[in-house]
Amino acid sequence: MHLSEAKKKSMIEKWAEKHKALVSCPGCNEAIREDDDLETIEYIKTRRGTEIFLHRGCVEKVWKGRGRQ
Ligand SMILES: [Zn+2]
Repeated sequence: MHLSEAKKKSMIEKWAEKHKALVSCPGCNEAIREDDDLETIEYIKTRRGTEIFLHRGCVEKVWKGRGRQ
C-alpha cells in the first residue's frame, strides 16, 4: 500500500496519541517520529488490525525473524 508522506505523518501522530507512546520499529526498536524521513518508513496493518510502522530496511528482518528467538 503506498501512502503519501503527509498521510503517514498523520497516521503516526494518531497512533502515538491513541497509544500514548512513541511509535517504534519492531525491527530495531528505534522510535519513529513524524518528522523522520518518512520515505523510508513502511506502514503495515495486520489481519488482526494491528498497525505497525517500521523502517523499510527492517521489514525483511522482522518478517524473517518471526518465530526465531
Ligand atoms: Zn527499524
